[in-house]
Amino acid sequence: MTDLDAHFDARVDTPGVDTGAASQASWLRDLVAYAYANAPAVRRILDEAGVVPDDVTGVGALERLPITRKDELLKLQRAEPPFGGFLGVPIGELGRVFMSPGPLFDPQGKEPDYWRFGPALHAAGFEPGDVVLNACAYTMTPLGLMFDEAARHIGCVVLPSGVGNTELQVDMARRMGATAYCGTPSFLKIVLDKAMEQGFDPRSDLGIRKAFVAAEMLPESLRVAIEDLGTSVRQGYGTADLGCLGYECSELTGMHVPRNAIVEIVDPTTGRNVPAGEPGEVVATVNRTTYPLLRFGTGDLSALELTPCACGRESPRLVRIMGRVGDAVKVRGMFVHPRQVTDVLARFSEIERHQIVVTRADHRDAMLARVQTFGDPPSNLAERIRDALWDVLHVRPDVEMVPSGTIPDDAPPIVDQRTWD
Ligand SMILES: [Zn+2]
Repeated sequence: MTDLDAHFDARVDTPGVDTGAASQASWLRDLVAYAYANAPAVRRILDEAGVVPDDVTGVGALERLPITRKDELLKLQRAEPPFGGFLGVPIGELGRVFMSPGPLFDPQGKEPDYWRFGPALHAAGFEPGDVVLNACAYTMTPLGLMFDEAARHIGCVVLPSGVGNTELQVDMARRMGATAYCGTPSFLKIVLDKAMEQGFDPRSDLGIRKAFVAAEMLPESLRVAIEDLGTSVRQGYGTADLGCLGYECSELTGMHVPRNAIVEIVDPTTGRNVPAGEPGEVVATVNRTTYPLLRFGTGDLSALELTPCACGRESPRLVRIMGRVGDAVKVRGMFVHPRQVTDVLARFSEIERHQIVVTRADHRDAMLARVQTFGDPPSNLAERIRDALWDVLHVRPDVEMVPSGTIPDDAPPIVDQRTWD
């Protein structure tokens, strides 16, 4: 067993919902053997990589397989309809088929809580008997049913309210005594604001005390604004193809990877795992024979945290989703994403605008943070900015203070001026 295997062989127990004893290495072996025998695309991938199922003895061995990304899946689905050779069961054994943007077909098997969001909702405090306002689309995309099935698997009652119709959503939530919410955080805020606009106090007239949010970024300011109105907010992460890949617990220390998923953080150019804590592309393999995508590249940028969590779950955690891989640049071997920079610099009230400029001289990358302040900057500001960026990016930038009006309104957040000839 490699170190990587040891990290992923974590026993994750969510009381009451997420049970099961098999370690990830063991289910991975079974999954690969099954997929090789039943999904022609998986057989082709292994054959081309010169890998036989018996070679995949643990998570570390996954690196020998190529990453399959959404654009390739699109091509394969067109070349070999309808599922590109990845379906592991006869089509008649499916429960539903969705058509996500792309357009990409996403199959759903018949097993309960197929996308495995049950433990995620449970960690967000959902309990049997909760009445859940599920404000997600139910058609074409699987999102609505992902949460619907998870909530009902726990024993909740679901109000399939879909998207839009804010006034009706408030009316339904209030009169049905909704206690919980699933959907995007921004729409929850809209619902709560609408309730207030209608003269209701969300804390006393609405009973929505907990929310599970996903499908968009959750700025801390939005979480605080919603929690100030009496609703606790926990977020999750997943994709239409794979289902749940991470969820927050009560401790808010990142998003726990569910035990039936393997999440690797890789350098998207080499497909190799990066050291724990460093950012890279989220690549996932879930234990699911219906549609056994091995090493699916999500295109999302995150990092793994392996330290124990006070909640008792031993699974690795995704620190948060930092953005899309394509928006990031790699400086001295480290990913730098515009959102990371914005998050750090938002801590400095003196800063009006900023821009990162990446250059290269003598075969060495250099990063310059151009910072425009409101008025004259304090003398130690540049040093504090340099230290704060270093802490998060692990790349030490030069900091240049520029006068107001220097950086245009529509300036790109990162300018990469490197040439490679
Ligand atoms: Zn935890």
